[in-house]
Amino acid sequence: MNPDLPAQLRVTPANPIRWLVVGQLLDAKNRRVLKITHLVYDQNQILHVGSAAPPAAILNGKTLPDLTLPEYTALPGLIEGHSHTFLEGAELAAAKRAAYQKQDPESLFQKAKARLPILARLGVIALRDGGDKDQVGLRLSKLTAGPDCPPFAARVFSPGAGIHRQGRYGSFFGRPLEEFADIASCVQSRIAEGADHIKIVPTGIINFAQGQVLAPPQFSVEIIQQFSQAAHAQHKHLMAHASGEVGVGQAIAGGVDTVEHGFFITDEQLARMRDQHVSWVPTFAPVQEQVDHADLMGWTGETLANLEKILANHARSLQKAVALGVNVLVGSDSGSCGVAHGSGLFYEMELLENAGMPTLDILCQVTHGNNRVLTTKQPYGSLEKGFLPRLIVTQHNPLATVKNLTRERWVVFDGAAESSATVGLDNL
Ligand SMILES: [Zn+2]
Repeated sequence: MNPDLPAQLRVTPANPIRWLVVGQLLDAKNRRVLKITHLVYDQNQILHVGSAAPPAAILNGKTLPDLTLPEYTALPGLIEGHSHTFLEGAELAAAKRAAYQKQDPESLFQKAKARLPILARLGVIALRDGGDKDQVGLRLSKLTAGPDCPPFAARVFSPGAGIHRQGRYGSFFGRPLEEFADIASCVQSRIAEGADHIKIVPTGIINFAQGQVLAPPQFSVEIIQQFSQAAHAQHKHLMAHASGEVGVGQAIAGGVDTVEHGFFITDEQLARMRDQHVSWVPTFAPVQEQVDHADLMGWTGETLANLEKILANHARSLQKAVALGVNVLVGSDSGSCGVAHGSGLFYEMELLENAGMPTLDILCQVTHGNNRVLTTKQPYGSLEKGFLPRLIVTQHNPLATVKNLTRERWVVFDGAAESSATVGLDNL
């Protein structure tokens, strides 16, 4: 372990460019691992990536690398594909969760804002939010996209409030469609408020005691099609919370861009998703947390058996999706019960790996894959010339197992560099 590493990774007035040689570099865009690779960056961008030494013209007089790290891997900073940034995920007690949500919007905003530098230091450089009704996500999106963005802070992409059917599931993170005369004006209003994408809630959630989604879907295929058209006309992607065979089928038929959760998805639906270029964010973590804390949650006997069966079937669907070539993306649903921000994403990666998704795929999808579909195609998620220098450097090989990403690592963020070991994980 090299204790001076963060200092030597940092861009400073004396060292306006940094030149590293790493043993491995994840080329997430091309889904491959490069061996012995030069990486040069300044505060604003990556200047060179490749097996050949960088051209002298970009080296500012430097003739030797700052660091030669044959035992280390460099990979792009991670992107959380599904987060409820306004919630405190780690909390398990229902009463405390309810009290937290009753805070005024300004308090919720300030607490969520305080998480962003912690997330960046963990290596999570951006989040696609799944919605809140108090403008927390919209305010964070505006803040982190603009000139007043705090340094070394994760960028937030928000849909504003999720859109649900009046009286149905989703009111704690959404607003009802019925507030508007029609779907087009509902979508237009979200975009006018600053939404980066549109989030709809076509179904309810799983009834754990019954082991299935009991309520019928909230939105018909025709209504979902209108949402798709309205979102796509404004170049926004349509994010759909959907579980249960019927509701998932309607979401796919309605032309959504991403199916979130997708519990009880069928193999035929997975094949249709591949053909229609619909991405899947399976979010194992919130259900796994219920099993991990079954005692505390009060799950025993048949309910616990249902949860375990749901997870086993979800793992089988994941394997099928990978075999079919479905675009599986990585999001933890952080903020939901027991899924902490930051560590929840690392746990989701571990669960995907345990369920049979290849490690290389997980790493490429949580970086380049998530950026391609879930953000507004930002210059990150891949280590390439001209992209922002937001990356992770670690001597614990993440290609061996994604679990190695939870071990000590260094995060470079626009010329700053910090060790993940300095970050506390409490209350995320
Ligand atoms: Zn969610």
